[in-house]
Amino acid sequence: MSIRIGILGYGNLSRGVESAIAQNPDMELVAVFTRRNPESLKVKSGVPALNVSELEKYKDKIDVLVLGGGSATDLPAQTPEYVKHFNVVDSFDTHARIPEHFENVDKAAKAAGKVGIISVGWDPGMFSLLRMISTSVLPEGENYTFWGKGVSQGHSDAIRRIKGVKDARQYTIPVEEAVNRVRKGENPTLTTREKHTRECFVVVEEGADKAAIESEIVNMPNYFSDYDTTVHFISAEEMERDHKGLPHGGFVLRSGVTGFDKENKHIIEYSLKLDSNPEFTGSVIAAYARAAYKLSKEGVSGCKSVFDIAPAYLSPLSGEELRRTML
Ligand code: NDP
Repeated sequence: MSIRIGILGYGNLSRGVESAIAQNPDMELVAVFTRRNPESLKVKSGVPALNVSELEKYKDKIDVLVLGGGSATDLPAQTPEYVKHFNVVDSFDTHARIPEHFENVDKAAKAAGKVGIISVGWDPGMFSLLRMISTSVLPEGENYTFWGKGVSQGHSDAIRRIKGVKDARQYTIPVEEAVNRVRKGENPTLTTREKHTRECFVVVEEGADKAAIESEIVNMPNYFSDYDTTVHFISAEEMERDHKGLPHGGFVLRSGVTGFDKENKHIIEYSLKLDSNPEFTGSVIAAYARAAYKLSKEGVSGCKSVFDIAPAYLSPLSGEELRRTML
């Protein structure tokens, strides 16, 4: 029998989860649930789109519920709530609030006898795993994470909120010189400005004051003022033609030393180049949904992060098959 998946919330990420499930023959998507009018959704796989109020009827028809909501306000409420009735996986990515989110989900999951896997994706997610493993292997060293080139939704939204702006796309770009210095094992101390630049493509309303908008962007505290930022004003047609996708990626590096005189350097590097951030993140979530299912079958309950899941739980292959083909 295949693993029955439900998806709550239908945005970019959930569409990525939907396409990932289609690539995993041991999984089946049962339905998509939304807080909006379900008739307004175009669900590509053709499964039913239902209002969230229908979810409780699906308690015995869904093995794992994937939560596709946003990290700012949806997931802090939804994950502890829905883990009372379902095994769940979310992609909560507000790093500073992960410990608190974990505690909330853990309490509810243990009381209900369910599994909740949180903060699944690439960062947090695959990048977190790589940081943890390489730090365990090379205890003396430095970690570096570079993001991009890719679209930051949060920064794009911040520009869209400026008066006179119709649309915006913001790319985060790692500074190549900084990445190369880390790769050479120099262990540099890098400021925020030295690690990444920001490039913005902006469509403005007719007659808008471009100079004022540019100044407001580059001086925006928290978002842009600590970075070298370039702003390009483009037409709506150019935006549609050249900036429709949601690419992303980045690098995690650990530069460490070994030997009694610390004479040998080692660089561990993990890199991602993603044409579609939501489709890749959705693919990671699908693998962790399998883990949630397997753990639940074993009677495990409580909250888990990627650190707590043994790698074999992600795979559809048996332990014997994995040892024969991948070890
Ligand atoms: P979206 O804004 O596209 O979707 C979030 C929620 O908003 C949906 O679940 C949906 O809920 C609602 N929604 C979607 N479209 C609309 C619309 N047109 N009008 C009104 N509401 C809408 O966000 P993403 O899918 O891009 O991202 C979701 C989360 O994924 C992010 O907050 C981030 O936490 C996480 N993420 C994590 C990554 C990682 O590496 N860990 C990487 C990438 C993303 P409903 O259908 O119920 O209305």
